[in-house]
Amino acid sequence: MSGPEHSCGVVGICANNDVASALYTALMIIQHRGQESAGISVFNEGSINTLKGNGLVDFALPRDDVKALQGKVGIAHVRYSTSSSKGIEYAQPFTVATNIGDVALAHNGELTNSSELRKKCMAEGSAFTTSSDAELIIKLLGRYMKQSDDIIKAIRGVMNELDGAYALTIMVNGRMFCVRDPYGFSPLCMGKLDDGYIVVSESSAIDALRGEFIKDIEPGEICEITQDGYKSYPATGDHPKAFCMFEWVYFARPDSVIDGREVYDVRRKIGEILARECPADVDLVMPIPDSGRAHAIGYACAAGIPYEEGFMKNRFAGRTFILPEQHQREFAVSMKMIPIKSTVNGKRIMIVDDSIVRGTTLKILVSMLREAGAKEVHVRIGCPPVIAPCYYGVDMKGRDEFIANHYDVEGIREIIGADSLGYISLPGLIEALGFKENDLCLACVNNKYPTHIPGEVHRFQSTLNTHFE
Ligand code: 5GP
Ligand code: MG
Repeated sequence: MSGPEHSCGVVGICANNDVASALYTALMIIQHRGQESAGISVFNEGSINTLKGNGLVDFALPRDDVKALQGKVGIAHVRYSTSSSKGIEYAQPFTVATNIGDVALAHNGELTNSSELRKKCMAEGSAFTTSSDAELIIKLLGRYMKQSDDIIKAIRGVMNELDGAYALTIMVNGRMFCVRDPYGFSPLCMGKLDDGYIVVSESSAIDALRGEFIKDIEPGEICEITQDGYKSYPATGDHPKAFCMFEWVYFARPDSVIDGREVYDVRRKIGEILARECPADVDLVMPIPDSGRAHAIGYACAAGIPYEEGFMKNRFAGRTFILPEQHQREFAVSMKMIPIKSTVNGKRIMIVDDSIVRGTTLKILVSMLREAGAKEVHVRIGCPPVIAPCYYGVDMKGRDEFIANHYDVEGIREIIGADSLGYISLPGLIEALGFKENDLCLACVNNKYPTHIPGEVHRFQSTLNTHFE
């Protein structure tokens, strides 16, 4: 079931001028959503031209090549993946030629029924070059477009087949569409630019392009975007929602606003609630940069305790979380974060991070603080213990990997070597997010899945009607 394209970032722009540079800027802003590969597809004079590469955006897409890409309609993608499926053939957008013209597609999320759908398509004659969900979706779209030249109808047909998480930007023969899955797992929003319109995973990209935020794409909504505006085809009926809680806790940029909630504000509230739920008598509060920063500021302000940046992060170090071996991850964490001795020496310190997954980061950082002379080290975490795998796109897979499945809070405290350890409660997290519990996907912390996953517990008892008119 593990599809390769985890929480990625997508964008699409329609304008009166060439869009490749603006797409590039948007990709730079959503770079944190995927560092494995980047790509841009633009439509010009009847066909789609695509530029793709592995690595960070400025490496994957040489500027001169981007400048040379002409076209007033385009989509783009940054890809986040684990160590498997690193090849360039997995880079998006995916493109195909169809009977009604070239099609390009970019996907953020992960389908939960991709293997069934793939088998079905193969039985009916489709061939695949990758195990990518994006390729599967584009092939399905091609099939539906053969049946009808109404593209909205074709997209709806595809949506009725898909289970799981998807936010898509799609280009069909120069027309541009975007889609958000009926649960709304992955974010997607729309903005107005000087000379056109943009849809993108995170609103901060609209700000970077000096645009104006218009709206979030609603769960289950399809939009067609043009140079002059957009036409919405909202979902019909009352479908349950499942916004991914982890977007606000960890994944998204703090300056993004997702479904009406600013990420920074939610993280600060998490910190405030943590201060209320798990107080401690300490001299200073420190974040684990960068992901724990806003949570720590919220904690410090609410508790009236001085805030200090006591860890220097090496901004050139790569990601530690996805390295395959435990010793590699430990070494990488110790290279990435160094305590400032004068700040921590002799102090009672509170460190705040967004989440504990395997416990690698904190185990090393707590011992570093002690070596640097900290008198006490207390740990607060902005997300309840992660205990269950994500099937919707966040890179957290095996139950065995999660430290909270092996030890209780006291056991984890002992392993990471802290004087105290406190997690925000689930009700506390829900309060900070400001949604109804049933509008959120909380599966990674409560083990209840909003969609049917074989072998897992469903959030509701009733069966769901996931179909569209
Ligand atoms: P741990 O070290 O406990 O295994 O992981 C927790 C740390 O990794 C936290 O600092 C958190 O910000 C980060 N983290 C949590 N989930 C993810 C994820 O899905 N991907 C990446 N790259 N980092 C994560
Ligand atoms: Mg972190």
